[in-house]
Amino acid sequence: MRKTPRIGIMGGTFDPVHYGHLVTAEEALVQFNLDKVVFVPTGRPVRKTHRHLSSAEDRYLMTVIATASNPDFEVSRIEIDRPGDTYTVDTMLALRDLYGPRAELFFISGADAVREILTWKNADRFAGLCTFIAATRPGYDADLGTDGGAGRLVPVPAVESMEVPALAISSSDIRDRVAAHRPIRYLLPEAVAAYIEKNGLYRETVA
Ligand code: NAP
Repeated sequence: MRKTPRIGIMGGTFDPVHYGHLVTAEEALVQFNLDKVVFVPTGRPVRKTHRHLSSAEDRYLMTVIATASNPDFEVSRIEIDRPGDTYTVDTMLALRDLYGPRAELFFISGADAVREILTWKNADRFAGLCTFIAATRPGYDADLGTDGGAGRLVPVPAVESMEVPALAISSSDIRDRVAAHRPIRYLLPEAVAAYIEKNGLYRETVA
């Protein structure tokens, strides 16, 4: 690794992980000249109380299976093993300690999530801590004006955007397809599809 490592942190619920996520991570690796991308499945997301989530262990294992063949990808249990609600700022501060002050950290996620970063817990800590990479679907209105900052004296972190055509695939569509007995083949790695089948995930339609 370089003296100044460049580490991508891929944050998401990954319920389930799919090719859109994998293409996003690969694209970020190349576009931003990263040394590696660490997938960080969210432990207990604070804003996902409206629907049933698969267990953290299932989401973690599916992410491990999906990334296993890529030597530039890793999966971290940091959020899964940390008790309490999951806040990205806690993760990024812990990863800053882990990789050292010289490392450059890039938090990669969906544009809808990145738009809201100024409303996240301790948002003032992000400036200087990491650069955000917002992955957008084709045709997305890339106004990454980061909602919620109006009238607040929050230092705005660096945000880059990156269009990823494969993000036409979405986890919610895959869940709906499983519940409706429609095919999910070619939307995600076969081994992840097998894991979903074997463990009976997403069979029930949930709002
Ligand atoms: P989300 O709201 O479920 O997702 C928003 C959109 O982004 C969806 O279209 C989603 O598609 C896509 N997306 C999510 N992660 C992605 C990724 N890594 N690459 C590309 N597209 C992605 O977002 P979320 O998964 O709950 O949260 C995203 C990240 O933000 C997580 O790390 C979460 O912990 C963090 N977050 C932190 C706070 C906080 O600290 N207060 C609050 C909210 C979110 P799919 O459904 O297909 O993935």
